[in-house]
Amino acid sequence: MKLRETSLNLKANGQVPRELEKDTQELWREIESLGDDHGMTNLDTPLRPGAFDLSPEEKVNLIEEKFADILHILGMDLKDDSLKGTPRRVAKMYVNEIFQGLIPENKPDAKLFDNKYRYGQMLVEKDITVHSYCEHHLVPILGRAHVAYISGGKVIGLSKINRIVRYFSKRPQVQERLTEQIAAELKSALQTEDVAVYIDAEHMCVATRGVEDCSSSTVTVHYSGKFEEESYRNEFLKIIS
Ligand SMILES: [Zn+2]
Repeated sequence: MKLRETSLNLKANGQVPRELEKDTQELWREIESLGDDHGMTNLDTPLRPGAFDLSPEEKVNLIEEKFADILHILGMDLKDDSLKGTPRRVAKMYVNEIFQGLIPENKPDAKLFDNKYRYGQMLVEKDITVHSYCEHHLVPILGRAHVAYISGGKVIGLSKINRIVRYFSKRPQVQERLTEQIAAELKSALQTEDVAVYIDAEHMCVATRGVEDCSSSTVTVHYSGKFEEESYRNEFLKIIS
């Protein structure tokens, strides 16, 4: 609503030139046509109301039932020794492993320390494993994240950076949102804007179905604060290359 309100206020004050007014209207119509559930208009993972009303155990039991239905509909014989445990195995994997980052209690607490060494240069955590899952096909996104920050007085335990990447990866994702969520969490935890996030990942939905392209990868970046300056950005890119 903010964009619409701003554009209406400006219009009421006579501050919008005619050309720009048309553009704003068009932009607003485009945003409206995306709908509320479009990932790229919101940093948060789209969750329904009451997303956490069920316990993890209840979720496993329900998903097990539904998954048995899916396999049955596909024509699989669930009485077969090899298959009979599959619905429960998949349900447990969804809730307790690959989508554990949906549960707020699993969020790592980012313990901070004083920057005793007065280290004022960038700190880069390279080659962090990314195992995420495309929310359009629920198949893996496999890649690496490189994260950098410049201390604004506090520093964070190194493994916490890996844990933050892991937490936001372990949910149905789009890579753009994953990048932004990691950056936002680091900025809020470290109380600094000087953060860079770079993710290079292969999407199994591109590699193993559809166009079946096994050689392409997707790069997403977030630069803010000092990393918007070319010199910092280039140094970061040189370090991770
Ligand atoms: Zn996909």
